[in-house]
Amino acid sequence: MKTYDLHTHSTASDGLLDPTTLLERAGARKVDVMALTDHDSVGGIAEARKAAALAGVHLVAGVEISVSWQGQLIHIVGLNIDDSHPELLQGLESLRNRRDDRAVRMALKLEKIGIPSPLQGAQRYQTTDILSRSHFARYLVEIGKADTFDAAFKQFLNPGTPGHVSMEWATVAEAVTWIKDAGGKAVVAHPGRYRMSEVELHRFLNDFIDAGGYGIEVVCSNLDPVQIDRFARVARTYGLRASKGSDFHSPSSRRELGRLAPLPQDLTPVWQDQHW
Ligand code: AMP
Ligand code: MN
Ligand code: MN
Ligand code: MN
Repeated sequence: MKTYDLHTHSTASDGLLDPTTLLERAGARKVDVMALTDHDSVGGIAEARKAAALAGVHLVAGVEISVSWQGQLIHIVGLNIDDSHPELLQGLESLRNRRDDRAVRMALKLEKIGIPSPLQGAQRYQTTDILSRSHFARYLVEIGKADTFDAAFKQFLNPGTPGHVSMEWATVAEAVTWIKDAGGKAVVAHPGRYRMSEVELHRFLNDFIDAGGYGIEVVCSNLDPVQIDRFARVARTYGLRASKGSDFHSPSSRRELGRLAPLPQDLTPVWQDQHW
């Protein structure tokens, strides 16, 4: 049985390890197959590919796309994409531009409530051309406005807090189409994180499947057994393939690469019939 981890981040978005260090860690943790799925960027894939060969890890080129559905932020992971596909690259670039606009607007709002130089502060944590709320969170902790990274989101960055700015990200259909056109498989990321009623979840999944969606994460590091059970049932009901991923961002968080419960045995994994 191979060890899979199909959801991870590097410094190409808001992770703390560069792709090389990330793949070395995956190798040391005996991960056989790892997908690098940075937010709205494939900028880390080329480096990750080289490092994966040295580390003895099979790299699945991936991405995690920011999507708006009915005013909610949803993440859709693309697995086994061609990271040079022009339409995908163009779509991701437009999302990064929207991130820059959002960051400017967030900074104005944070300044209004007395946070000094929020944009410059966040930019100091930025490693590539992705500006994330995570970078704002790290700055808010640094200057003592929040006690922890999580608290920074709860106090300043989540919807309904003073620093939040809502944006129109990609539509479900756009994200799934970019992924499919680039030869990849579209997977709903961390389904337990969305605040959706059963009816909304049903409508969302119908939209996702209509667009050509392929799978859903059933095992994530923040899903307890009850949640795993819930999304296993969803995978069965909707005929979706099952994926698993840690959503690893940094060594200091509770999540670790490849440390995941097995998928329920009757589910069809996303890697079935693939060469990974
Ligand atoms: P963004 O993509 O810029 O909107 O930022 C979202 C990222 O921030 C996520 O991918 C997580 O890495 C992180 N994040 C979001 N919400 C939280 C939270 N409540 N606590 C900790 N990290 C969060
Ligand atoms: Mn993130
Ligand atoms: Mn996510
Ligand atoms: Mn993620």
